[in-house]
Amino acid sequence: MSEHFPVQMPPQTRSQSDYIRDLAQIMAVRKRGPVPMALVHTYGCQQNVADGEKIKGLLSEMGFSFTDKEEEADLILYNTCAVREHAENRVFGNVGALKNVKRRNPSLIIALCGCMMEQEHVSERIRKSFPFVNLVFGTHVIHRLPELLYTAITDGRRVFERGDESEDQQIVEGLPVRRDGTVKAWLTVMYGCDNFCSYCVVPYVRGRERSRTPEAIFDEFSALVKEGYKDITLLGQNVNSYGKNLKEPVNFSQILRMLDEVEGDYRIRFMTSHPKDATHELIDTIANGKHISHHLHLPFQSGNNRVLREMNRGYTREKYLELVEYAKEKIPDLSLTSDVIVGFPGETYEEFLDTVDLIQKVGFTSLYTFIYSPRVGTRAAKMPDPVPAEEKSKWFAQLCKTQEQIAARRCTAMVGTTQRVLVEDRNPKTGLLAGRTDGNIIVDFQGDESLIGSFQNVRITSARNWVLSGERIK
Ligand code: SAH
Ligand code: SF4
Repeated sequence: MSEHFPVQMPPQTRSQSDYIRDLAQIMAVRKRGPVPMALVHTYGCQQNVADGEKIKGLLSEMGFSFTDKEEEADLILYNTCAVREHAENRVFGNVGALKNVKRRNPSLIIALCGCMMEQEHVSERIRKSFPFVNLVFGTHVIHRLPELLYTAITDGRRVFERGDESEDQQIVEGLPVRRDGTVKAWLTVMYGCDNFCSYCVVPYVRGRERSRTPEAIFDEFSALVKEGYKDITLLGQNVNSYGKNLKEPVNFSQILRMLDEVEGDYRIRFMTSHPKDATHELIDTIANGKHISHHLHLPFQSGNNRVLREMNRGYTREKYLELVEYAKEKIPDLSLTSDVIVGFPGETYEEFLDTVDLIQKVGFTSLYTFIYSPRVGTRAAKMPDPVPAEEKSKWFAQLCKTQEQIAARRCTAMVGTTQRVLVEDRNPKTGLLAGRTDGNIIVDFQGDESLIGSFQNVRITSARNWVLSGERIK
């Protein structure tokens, strides 16, 4: 069943494959419908989505099918996000609502995992206030889900597991993956983060930076291309520091060039690229690549040097703009996207205006904009934060409005051009096919469903904010 799941356990203990086999038998009896059903919901970033696909891979091997209806589920698992308070509150609200679902179905198993569960104060709150949760596990022990679930079910006790320090450092290869789509795929190249940006919880909940070997990445990538995936995104918190800790150091540009040699009709994307480690070599690699998208997600967070310093980002506004200028020169059709934080502790309105100015200078295709959210245990959470929330909301609105105008201008300028679009699905409301350009802009157009999963040339006929419409060129 899972020969390709070579997780080594101490000799006296049972392997995860043994637990998978036993759970398949247990669930075959416990299930309420024709097959055991799991509802797996992932919050947050693509890294979490990729983890969710591994969790579903493991559950599939135990015989689970998947549902999005709580009432149908034998197991409900939330894979949580800790990056901002809003995401955490949503999780707490949704978990609270499961109390009634469990009341109607007492045999329901409720499990929580992901970044939130790595935080002591969160697992304490779950322990005290949510007694109906059966299993809580952290980001470093996903491969032990079979054993943990087995213990929660057979011992009838609540299981809380975050693993030990050695588990924080490891990479477990060979886990089964049940991918959400057939056109786009995520491929993790590295785990963890060592950057400790002062506002960010990720280094605390994802552990130290560690890179997969080039061989493991190559094998997974080639298999994806062979299976017909057309848009493969390489994932890491800072892909530009990939490979530093490998026995034989390799840099990320080398990885890109290695993968770009794989034969086939596909696109490579990657995220996230940290500006402090982004090099001209990286830009040249994109410019000269055969399959590498002309799309760069390069989060700048703030356009003001004092704020960048306080954020511990490790670059200046000038260095960022120099890099962007070089990239635009080498890749004239480059689509740039970014992340921004508004209202970092102590940020003044004048400093915020440097951010507005930077987005106008760069002309991003799209921006992910966030209001600063204090995170327990981070340095920024202890900094004085005098600007009231209403004021930050106003700045936020100003930034969004500016970006909307920039995006609309960029999209309008594309009218009349022909774009190579990867068709992803059909919009059920409009009946139109929807796909993405190389620069990751959504395009809709009329066409047959059989085109899903293929690249099509589409002439852009109109633009609405950040969505384009067009006609397929046959
Ligand atoms: N590793 C990536 C980002 C991961 S978190 C990078 O360095 O670019 C995704 C985004 O969430 C960040 O880029 C940042 O803009 C935002 N973010 C992280 N922590 C935040 C916080 N405490 N408050 C508001 N936004 C935050
Ligand atoms: Fe967080 Fe900074 Fe690491 Fe990104 S690079 S995950 S923002 S600490």
